Amino acid sequence: QVDIPAVLRSVVSSLHPVAEAQGVDLILEGADGTEEVPGDHDQLTQVFTNLIENAIKYGGRDKEVHVCLTSHTVEPTMRSSAIRVDISDQGEGIATQHIPRLTERFYRVDSHRSREMGGTGLGLAIVKHILNRHRGRLRVESHVGQGSCFSVILPYE
Ligand code: ATP
Ligand code: MG
Repeated sequence: QVDIPAVLRSVVSSLHPVAEAQGVDLILEGADGTEEVPGDHDQLTQVFTNLIENAIKYGGRDKEVHVCLTSHTVEPTMRSSAIRVDISDQGEGIATQHIPRLTERFYRVDSHRSREMGGTGLGLAIVKHILNRHRGRLRVESHVGQGSCFSVILPYE
């Protein structure tokens, strides 16, 4: 069993210096209590690290990144109720045609700009792989010029 609010608190506090260096305000909401789902602690830590790192990196300077936990959501495609974590930024957003390809290995929306920022294009491929092993889902909503929201959905059973 993995306590997701505890994982979020630890990932957020370890990424605080990274956010601060970009002038980003990293805000955690709804993660005070205890909510356990079956899974691997280190792998789920990796999922949230990759997504929050992206939000900080692509969210733009002096903006906010919100990490928000919602418990006991009902997912039509899941047998049990689920926990949802929304990671939202106020960056440039992602055009619709790129969204289905984001979790491909080495896929980067703007390869020139992304290369300048560093990284390999593997972060979201790893997220997808780990979530598949947990029967979880990744949902992406984005509006160009406004920002993106990546939602992680993990079943309780
Ligand atoms: P790595 O994670 O390996 O350091 P990366 O961040 O480029 O490199 P991914 O995390 O897999 O790789 O992301 C793939 C691409 O998706 C990124 O290069 C970027 O173009 C786009 N992307 C990911 N998250 C966001 C976001 N929050 N806002 C805008 N674009 C994003
Ligand atoms: Mg990344």
